[in-house]
Order: sequence, then C-alpha cells, then structure tokens
Amino acid sequence: MPEKQGYPKIAIDGPAGAGKSTVTREVSRRLALKYLDTGAMYRAITLKFIYENTELSDLKSIEEILNRTEVRLSDRQEVFLDGTNVTGDIRSADVNRLVSPVSAISPVRLRLVEMQRTIAKESNGIVMEGRDIASRVIPDADFKFYLDASIQERARRRRKEQLEKGIEMTEDEVIEEIKNRDFIDSGREDSPLTMVSDAIVIDTTDMAFEAVVDKIISIVKSKVS
Ligand code: C5P
Repeated sequence: MPEKQGYPKIAIDGPAGAGKSTVTREVSRRLALKYLDTGAMYRAITLKFIYENTELSDLKSIEEILNRTEVRLSDRQEVFLDGTNVTGDIRSADVNRLVSPVSAISPVRLRLVEMQRTIAKESNGIVMEGRDIASRVIPDADFKFYLDASIQERARRRRKEQLEKGIEMTEDEVIEEIKNRDFIDSGREDSPLTMVSDAIVIDTTDMAFEAVVDKIISIVKSKVS
C-alpha cells in the first residue's frame, strides 16, 4: 500500500461480539480521529419502529417513517432519536432481537449508508465500525480491518456486557441470539456482513483488547506519514 498522507479513513467490520466497539473507540481516541458506530444508527431506527409498532413488511410506512425521523450521533457516540437521547434504550433486549431484521430492509440501509458516507466525507479522517463499511460505505477506505472471534468467546463477551447492564442471560441464550444475528446479517441480500478480499483479518479470540488496539495502531502508523 502506498504511503498515506494526513487523515486516514479506517473501516472496522466484523460480527457481533468480535470486540469492534471497544477497539474502535480506543483506536479513534489514540489517533485523534472521529469515531462512528454505525450499528448504533441501525439500533436507533429499530427503536423508532418499536415505538411506532411498525409492520416490517410494510415498506410504504417504513419510507414514510424514515422521511420524518432524525438520527444523530454526538462525538461521544451518544445517540439522539428525533432529538431525544436514546443511548441506553438502543441496547434493550427488544432492539437486540429486532435490529437484524430491520437492518435487512433496503430503504433503511439506503438512508443510513447515505448519512454515513456524508459523515465520512465531511470528517478529517474517521474510524467507522459496522458490517458493510469496507464493502459498501467507504470502499475507498485506507485501512480495512475485519475483527473476528470464536462463537464461544463472542458469547462470553456479550453475556458479560449484558450482565453489566443488569440483564441476565444464559450462555445458550446468548449463543442463540448471536447465531441468529450472524445468520441474518451474513445472509441478507442488501450489503451483508462481508470480509473484503483486501481486509486485514484479526482473530481476537485469545487477544486482550489492548493488543488488538496496538496492532491496528501500529499498522496504521506504519503507513501514514
Ligand atoms: O454493531 P451492533 O451489534 O450494535 O449492530 C447491531 C446490528 O446492526 C447488527 O447486528 C446488524 O444487523 C446491523 N448493522 C448493519 N450494518 C452496519 C452496522 C450494523 O446491518 N454497518
């Protein structure tokens, strides 16, 4: 890869529980780059559909709701839905259950991808995490990382996260939820979870989060002048 100047665009894709959020947040902090959690945007739209009791097969209503819905993320990744802070609400069990089916709806993706591209264009460098960042949102990214981990480890992390929020789930329940999300996210027609051919793959199963961050930073720093 040729030497990059200035402000890199970094894509971090991977399945649920691979460690993307924690790693992306720290990478953006250490490189002083903007951070965008695209999953939070899909979660906010999902929350809106829950509030409105939307039938997910009703594309007309979906278009109408999208036209009057505002999703905004602050620099600290606080999520605002129509002006209300929903940062905590987007992590609820109901949103977890519905976010993948909602994310498979093309008009939803069209709207959010457009927003994500605008944010990337207007930023002086960015670290974006999601499922289709390198394959669709910013295919011209300077760095494309794909984080993965074993299903057991991903479930362990997810369960710990949920417990910290006071939500108790059995290991089997978490594995079931993750497998279900993987299945929908990887199998959908519109921009599924994809590992692009030029991705740098990091298996985080046996790695401490700091080691993953260090690895990404050293790769970026070695190519950016
Ligand atoms: O990253 P997080 O687990 O919060 O993402 C929630 C869901 O949002 C994913 O399971 C996926 O269905 C969807 N998503 C997506 N494309 C992205 C980011 C997230 O479809 N770029």
